[in-house]
Amino acid sequence: MRILSGVQSSGKLHIGNYYGAIRQFVQFQDTADAYYFIANYHSLNEVREPKRALELTREAAMAYLALGLDPKKAVLFRQSDVKEVLELNWLLGVVAPVAHLERAHSYKDKVAQGKSPDFGLFAYPVLMAADILLYSADAVPVGKDQIQHIEFARDWAVKFNMQYVPGYDPADPDGKEKGHAPGILKLPSAYIQSSTQTVPGIDGRKMSKSYGNTIDLFGDEKELKKRIMSIKTDSTPVEAPKPVPGAEAKETSEAPEGTQPGEGALVSKVPLYDLLKVMLPEADFRDVDASWRAGGKGYGDYKKRLLEAFHATFGPARQRYAELSADPGELERILHDGANRAREEASRLMEKVRRAVGIP
Ligand code: ATP
Ligand code: MG
Repeated sequence: MRILSGVQSSGKLHIGNYYGAIRQFVQFQDTADAYYFIANYHSLNEVREPKRALELTREAAMAYLALGLDPKKAVLFRQSDVKEVLELNWLLGVVAPVAHLERAHSYKDKVAQGKSPDFGLFAYPVLMAADILLYSADAVPVGKDQIQHIEFARDWAVKFNMQYVPGYDPADPDGKEKGHAPGILKLPSAYIQSSTQTVPGIDGRKMSKSYGNTIDLFGDEKELKKRIMSIKTDSTPVEAPKPVPGAEAKETSEAPEGTQPGEGALVSKVPLYDLLKVMLPEADFRDVDASWRAGGKGYGDYKKRLLEAFHATFGPARQRYAELSADPGELERILHDGANRAREEASRLMEKVRRAVGIP
């Protein structure tokens, strides 16, 4: 099975990126043929300062390695090192309906906020489809916010195959039945870890680099404490039962079937509780849950508990990150090797794609 996914180098990586995506990347590298990239073209929609773009790309690579990705087990590469992705981006753009792009959440939200979106943001789902289809991925481990993009990738792969592969039947996309040709572009599926599919940020919206509501994985200690201490809570007094995510929180955290909450929507009314649930080992969380419901402690104590859990979980990765920072040559070597392996795969697919569409 081929697994592929990526994280944008649009800012510092945070615990939402880890629990929603990277933790699954690490698990899959032992059992699957895994490709993980740093989406540094995508990040240019946010980052317009070249030095910072380079720095954030490097930091994202170090984060992958520090969190346990092993270049001997998985292919780690920068999106921009495989130029074929831009070619496939164009060829998919030829079959991607504008109507799909117009209903993409990321685009719709910008418009709703009254901002005038650039073409890069509008076309973002096409490049993302190219990222996935270029490597014939079977499954893409991601957070819930990416489901729509992966559905688009499937739709456009079907459209492409129907257009360009004689004998292709969407009901038999791998051509397993007699008489049908297999598609050139493989249909990917999203792989979502339901318990951590949307990690809330400190303000209760989805934790996102672009919202400034993150708990960063590799930030400095002072800032980390500040962020955790400023997780939004209500004014329930110490020793009073505290609100828990329940029926009424569901209104905002779960959208009707087939839709997703807008990007800026509240996903948790009680982010401290939800973050403890994500970060603590199950048995520890059961104790915290019981004490929380009984109103055992003030919010400050639960925040300290979260900080401890953060250090217990990420202490060793933070140590590795510091070591990697001291050896930029090694990092470059790993990315160079990953790019070669990724390029090989990409050029094999692109040969078929070019032949199919009539590009010499
Ligand atoms: P940006 O704000 O620039 O979009 P981001 O924080 O949303 O950044 P991405 O690079 O877009 O991060 O996403 C990388 C991966 O992390 C994706 O698979 C995405 O679904 C996942 N992810 C991001 N934020 C969360 C979150 N809060 N909870 C769970 N998964 C998340
Ligand atoms: Mg995002």
